[in-house]
Amino acid sequence: MTISLSNVRYAYPDSPDNIVLDIPQWSVAAKEQFFVHGPSGSGKSTLLNLLSGMAKPLGGELSILDQRLDTMSPQQRDKFRANHIGYVFQQFNLIPYLNAVENIELAAHFSPQKHVAGLAQEIAALLSELNISEVDRQKPTTHLSVGQQQRVAIARALINKPELLIADEPTSSLDEQNRDSFMALLMTMVTEHNTTLVFVSHDMSLSRYFSRTEELSNINRAVEAA
Ligand code: ADP
Ligand code: MG
Repeated sequence: MTISLSNVRYAYPDSPDNIVLDIPQWSVAAKEQFFVHGPSGSGKSTLLNLLSGMAKPLGGELSILDQRLDTMSPQQRDKFRANHIGYVFQQFNLIPYLNAVENIELAAHFSPQKHVAGLAQEIAALLSELNISEVDRQKPTTHLSVGQQQRVAIARALINKPELLIADEPTSSLDEQNRDSFMALLMTMVTEHNTTLVFVSHDMSLSRYFSRTEELSNINRAVEAA
């Protein structure tokens, strides 16, 4: 299993009585494209924070690629994330004054052992696949359209060849046409790169792109109490 959770519980440190997640059992197999649907505030981003090791469960077992994240130190989780997990955020989180290539180089910097040769060529190949022209690669990313920025964010998330890609409502600022082309490109990229994908959104219409869809409320027991 790429992802395996057993009795995972989480509450934020500043509100320890509000259990946001209580997941008895959940798993995702390698190369699955998994869509988790839930309304705003239901705990989707919190779940992704646990999967990426940015937060640590209060209890239970959480394994990614057969490694126990719940027993790792924060430093070990950071290293694990850099080596194995790509992340596409809701608001892109590109560094605005850097261009596309520089943004991706920065991400590659955190996982140096994955780039023994030819980082520049790897970046160029990804940006070509994602239809970012040579001219647009040299512009500060604020000068790109939102659709282009989100494609650069995919390239940045994939440059370290992560086994697992996590996407947190990445289409919410895109119009319908940009959303459809973004989804088609994302699915092509994860299929070609043999990447496992966990994608969360409140937008149920996106589920048609995925091999599996689950309501967060079906895996999270904490929902009723909230
Ligand atoms: P979603 O991504 O589905 O909109 P979140 O995971 O962001 O939901 O939030 C789930 C719950 O956790 C909400 O009740 C929210 O208020 C709470 N929450 C989110 N982030 C924090 C935080 N940093 N500190 C305390 N509570 C938080
Ligand atoms: Mg969220």
